[in-house]
Amino acid sequence: MSAADLTPATRTSEDVRVANTALVLRTLRADGPSSRAVLAASTGLTKGTVGTIVGRLSDLGAVHEDAPGVAQPGPATRGRPSRPVTLEGSPLVGLGIEVNVDYRAAVALDLAGATQLFTEERGAVGGDRVDVTEVDAFVRRCRRRLEADGHRLLGLCLAVPGLVERDRRVVRSAPNLGWHDLDLAAAVTGGVPAGTPVRVDNDANCAARAEAWVGVASGAEHVLYVTGTVGVGGGVVSDGDVVHGLRGFAGEIGHMRLGDSDERCGCGRRGCWESQVGLLAMLRRVGMPHEPDVDPLLVAEQVARRAAVDADVRAGLALLADDLARGCAVLANALDPGTIVLGGYFATLAPWLLPTVRDRLARDVFAGGCAVRTSTLGLRAAATGAAAHVLSDVFDARVPLPAP
Ligand SMILES: [Zn+2]
Repeated sequence: MSAADLTPATRTSEDVRVANTALVLRTLRADGPSSRAVLAASTGLTKGTVGTIVGRLSDLGAVHEDAPGVAQPGPATRGRPSRPVTLEGSPLVGLGIEVNVDYRAAVALDLAGATQLFTEERGAVGGDRVDVTEVDAFVRRCRRRLEADGHRLLGLCLAVPGLVERDRRVVRSAPNLGWHDLDLAAAVTGGVPAGTPVRVDNDANCAARAEAWVGVASGAEHVLYVTGTVGVGGGVVSDGDVVHGLRGFAGEIGHMRLGDSDERCGCGRRGCWESQVGLLAMLRRVGMPHEPDVDPLLVAEQVARRAAVDADVRAGLALLADDLARGCAVLANALDPGTIVLGGYFATLAPWLLPTVRDRLARDVFAGGCAVRTSTLGLRAAATGAAAHVLSDVFDARVPLPAP
């Protein structure tokens, strides 16, 4: 629940404190360093309230305030030079972890958005079914590393390739991991300090948030992220937050039925967009075999090398680009995202896909075009977005800061 959802009757003084603290943090994030007086003016809070909040944030190490007597530009109060308050961030971090079949990655972001940890592990854990105790062990290893470096966890978010319930805890279905109706949040809660919020989200939703926080769409309030691997996934950021939908399953854009294709999709139905622009469809079009054990991005690099010298491969990619562009135009008209970010193998093959997608959007988007960019976050996108999910819970007053 956000602060705005609280009616006056249910709003406690603790709710008000959390909401006001979040407001000061958001203002510092958006405007950069500001004196207490400027913060009070921009937030509408009293100077006394701002002083209390800044004092507590300073005790937590979340902000840094210049020592008295340091002259700084800006409005002074009672003849004293103003002392800018700066988001410090580094002691407090959100931890994001991506869990995939044979790949796990962790990213910790501090309140100022700086990366304080990036680590990855490869290799399958658990055969047909990814072993949850191995995920828990990975969480514990990351936590120990962060604590050894003097960090405190604001929260943990796990990104998974599958359907996650709206409660942000239960994985309804992640076929690649062999998980169904699994309370993943409960399974890893023991690995973090008591009371630490634990969330779970779909990996494409997390990647979309990462693009809007620190990626190529940094600062944008409205973004559509479209990623191509064997599956085609999407994440929608609207008004700065990820859209989850009624049950939590929004963004399953790979299963839109588009055009007159009758190709069978991995979901068992025919004609899904994924069956036209997913990795397997791309390989079919360029006449290359699918090797299931090879990383999709390495496969795409091989295709890129062939495309540079082989006109038939370029012709196959041109057909793929048409289908990719058609779906992007449908989504841009439905969502008006302003920016579409292409990730996964679409980013690797961007030189052969992007011009067609851009032309189509310029022509077909009723509202008047839509920017298209390619992701540069690579394999760390989902874990980065999961960490950003934790921070957004703090900035949006859904989660309080810990006690100093
Ligand atoms: Zn499908």
